[in-house]
Amino acid sequence: MIVYADNAATTAVSKKSIEAMLPYFDKYYGNPSSVHQIGREAAKALIEARKTVAESLGAEEREIYFTSGGTEADNWAITFAANLGAKKGKKHLITTKIEHHAVLYMFEKLEKEGFEVTYLDVYKDGIVKIEDVEKAIRQDTALVSVMYANNEIGTIQPIAQIGKICREKGVLFHTDAVQAVGHLPINVKDENIDMLSLSAHKFHGPKGVGALYCKKGIKLESFLLGGGQEMGKRASTENVAGIVGMAAALKQSISEMTENEKKVTAMRDKLIEELSKIPHSILNGHRTKRLPGNVNFCFEGIEGESMLLLLDMKGICASSGSACTSGSLDPSHVLLAIGLPHAVAHGSLRLTVCEYNTGQEIEYIIEELPKIIQRLREMSPVWESIIKEEK
Ligand SMILES: *Cc1c(COP(=O)(O)O)cnc(C)c1O
Repeated sequence: MIVYADNAATTAVSKKSIEAMLPYFDKYYGNPSSVHQIGREAAKALIEARKTVAESLGAEEREIYFTSGGTEADNWAITFAANLGAKKGKKHLITTKIEHHAVLYMFEKLEKEGFEVTYLDVYKDGIVKIEDVEKAIRQDTALVSVMYANNEIGTIQPIAQIGKICREKGVLFHTDAVQAVGHLPINVKDENIDMLSLSAHKFHGPKGVGALYCKKGIKLESFLLGGGQEMGKRASTENVAGIVGMAAALKQSISEMTENEKKVTAMRDKLIEELSKIPHSILNGHRTKRLPGNVNFCFEGIEGESMLLLLDMKGICASSGSACTSGSLDPSHVLLAIGLPHAVAHGSLRLTVCEYNTGQEIEYIIEELPKIIQRLREMSPVWESIIKEEK
């Protein structure tokens, strides 16, 4: 049995998304900027896709810029906001300690370039405190960037409340909503979001395509220079098939959101309930304010990477945290930010399920995982000392 439980890393492309894309590879393969009919068909598809993406966020079509994914949207939004601020003498930026590296590394780069960055704490439950955001904002703050939901521990941030504060104080507000779009209801107007990043492959669309929402009236600057695509703001021939596939996947995710959320939450809660019974296990992140499909545990006395290998041998595809840091020996910055000691953070396991998973698969994980943990602990000197200390 193969159980794919790594949906925060990427998802399977839905049948509807694949079907929607196919004609744009070999039938309507024209360049949307061309005047002829094959090009015009592609251009029409872009108009439709932009409409779908805009509607799904409560935005207008002219506020949607297609990108090569979540990383580009994050890099673009943050670079732009920082540059805009600098022009007005505002060189202070605010973000959190648990952002995805597509955000975090941008801020670190900006720090080297002379910006001052406040990294907000998220405390034990992985959630930013509104008072902290309010206190951190200064006269010279150019941008607040807080992720909608975390990719490792799944915690959902109080985005509407942060948006309200930023709007009142006249500070630009960006959110990396890559894990949230297609999974949680989002309305950029109601939540006072100025800029939002999304990525198709996290909601059953294809990889290598995403979008940046930027509120009208904000004079977004070009990130890629060249042709006049994306209202002159983002050069390069559009990934027509990918964009069409993203729109189809998003439309489907939104129309099935309520029923999927119910199904996926039930699987998540079952996993949490059962895995909590394993001795010396710690659930990471808030118990309920988390993504429907996110389960993240630390098991003391265990090394996460060995757990992943043994799970893989049983056909269970999981992750120790973020796909981007696996392979490196540093524990996750997210787990350290919620206060876990290095040793414990090394024993992390992220299981992220989606509506394609079945109850039977969940049972299989619940059956196999405790055996693997027991086996690893039997060989672990760290575990031995934990047990000794207890006695
Ligand atoms: C996956 C992810 C990204 C990066 O998106 P890509 O499309 O893979 O570039 C950024 N932020 C978060 C929170 C993510 O989960």
